[in-house]
Amino acid sequence: MSTAIKLYARETPGFADRLAHTVALLRCAAADHPGRIVLASSLGAEDMVLTDLIAKERLGIAVATLQTGKLHAQTLALVQRAEAHYGLTIELHHPRTEAVVHFVQRHGDDAMYRSVELRKACCAMRKVEPLERLLAGRTAWVTGLRREQSGARAAVPFIEADEHARSKISPLADWSWHDVWHYIGSRHVPYNPLHDEFMPSIGCAPCTRAIAVGEDFRSGRWWWENEDAKECGLHVQAHSVSTIGRSQSQHSEGASA
Ligand code: SF4
Repeated sequence: MSTAIKLYARETPGFADRLAHTVALLRCAAADHPGRIVLASSLGAEDMVLTDLIAKERLGIAVATLQTGKLHAQTLALVQRAEAHYGLTIELHHPRTEAVVHFVQRHGDDAMYRSVELRKACCAMRKVEPLERLLAGRTAWVTGLRREQSGARAAVPFIEADEHARSKISPLADWSWHDVWHYIGSRHVPYNPLHDEFMPSIGCAPCTRAIAVGEDFRSGRWWWENEDAKECGLHVQAHSVSTIGRSQSQHSEGASA
């Protein structure tokens, strides 16, 4: 059994209800936004759960990810493994070449370590702008956000409106880390092998490290920065919040997409 599954997979009370609610939410969203809904996948554990559900339930939800140009080889390989496993195509959205060349010429390849401003500029160029293109023409998007991932995500609703009035749907909002790995382990879902090397939250290679026992799961991301600065801009724009269908429950422990 893999390290991550052995460490984290656990069936906890209420899992079947949470899974049923997730499936209902995804079905509803696919029906409400035919041909205009996408899973914005980080290829993290949560997003592999959602990819599995979308494929197995044959939901009309596209799957897309950001190829920042800084991903680990294992993450890139996961794209091909998932495509072969599910028989689907994962859209890859790249940063603009001229923007990358200009930024690297001006600030160097390791600019993210020099200041929060430069790190955020790198994220804006490699992630935020490509995400806008990924979402263009779409009326809804699905994310793997969960409330226990961080304090900043503690109130993530199942559905909210983003700044462009698109529906942003987080069907795993009330899932625990144990739930995620119980699903992955029991359904043989393909996942990033870096999770077996104590990287619960995986982003770009220069900005992700393994964590030690007792460290917060998100501490392996941008570890040189203060906790308050640790978002890349992909999930900080939403403002109008609503919930549907179910009271928000909470759990402890967590990792990140
Ligand atoms: S996570 Fe790091 S490498 Fe990736 S876009 Fe942000 S700063 Fe750049």
